[in-house]
Amino acid sequence: MATNDVLRLEGLTRSFGHNAPAVNQVDLRLEAGSLFCLLGPSGCGKSTLLRLVGGYLAPDAGRVFLADVDVNDMPLERRNIGMVFQNYALFPHLTARANVAFGLEARGVPRSERRQRVDAMLDRVGLSSTERERRPRELSGGQQQRVALARALVIQPKLLLLDEPLANLDRQLREQMRLELKEILRTTGVTALLVTHDQEEALSLADRVGVMLGGRLLQTDAPRVLYNHPRTPFVAGFLGLANLLRVADAVGDMLHLEGGLSLRGKGTKDNRVMIRPEKFLLGPAAERCPTRWTGRVINTLFLGAQQMLQVAVTPAVTVRACCRPGEAGDGDEVTLGIPDDAVWIVPGEDV
Ligand code: ATP
Repeated sequence: MATNDVLRLEGLTRSFGHNAPAVNQVDLRLEAGSLFCLLGPSGCGKSTLLRLVGGYLAPDAGRVFLADVDVNDMPLERRNIGMVFQNYALFPHLTARANVAFGLEARGVPRSERRQRVDAMLDRVGLSSTERERRPRELSGGQQQRVALARALVIQPKLLLLDEPLANLDRQLREQMRLELKEILRTTGVTALLVTHDQEEALSLADRVGVMLGGRLLQTDAPRVLYNHPRTPFVAGFLGLANLLRVADAVGDMLHLEGGLSLRGKGTKDNRVMIRPEKFLLGPAAERCPTRWTGRVINTLFLGAQQMLQVAVTPAVTVRACCRPGEAGDGDEVTLGIPDDAVWIVPGEDV
């Protein structure tokens, strides 16, 4: 059956030696024009998955489909996939322009069309005419990043793979390039699969994010859904800050938590309750909440736009709560209001 999927993975699995699979039974679908971010801690199998899709590695089991065509036996040069590596992997002896032209030359694109397409792409990524004539070592990290992106996009790939493309840039440049990358991908309309361990990058760039751990895709969803409604404790804790409290007992619509706290909600014993720090309400707003916890501030962190409090709400339980800078200080007694919609029951019990 024909689909609108540019990429489809079915049960993709790959091991190295006798170790547990680096990629384990992964299913995934990428719609045309979408940007998917694969997010996970170091060693979880992200790069291996990317290499399987690109054809740099063969799977032990499972299939890769590009636009509904099974490409398991198709060599990488015929897959028409663009790849941006973390270290850019530019040809050191070629100028930026020649680096970008390389793939077109290899495909036998005539010289005049080549020149026009290379210039248009270098315009698109914002490389000046002097920079185009320089070799990689004469370019900054951000400029090399633009060349790598132009080189991958100029061949008009069916799919673009990006392996930690912004990891080598310093923080300020990374944030700027993140916005530019989003805009470039949007205007070219390319379908992209990006690997990162930077949760901010994944949440801000992607249409959908997949969180990976131990070779498995734990959850795949839109960024907001992943953040607000994680399905496992690992996903909850990996994306942003989360207060995760275990349910000791559930009676009617009350949940009694380990450590002696209670709140309104429906769940079962051993579920975890997630409350993001920014969901607590303080001050007068707290008084209007159905559930209120009182505790003492044992630590404060000033973060610029907001302040993070560590609040001891029972001798055994400390939670993190956001407030406006100066709203509460060390040693203060505070009331944390918990609106019903601040409570998310994390169904998964293990990872
Ligand atoms: P990072 O974020 O650190 O790059 P990653 O999520 O991309 O990590 P992979 O590079 O895919 O992780 O590695 C997944 C697992 O497979 C790791 O345990 C790694 O040691 C192992 N692995 C990857 N490539 C090979 C290889 N060629 N030979 C043996 N083991 C490998």
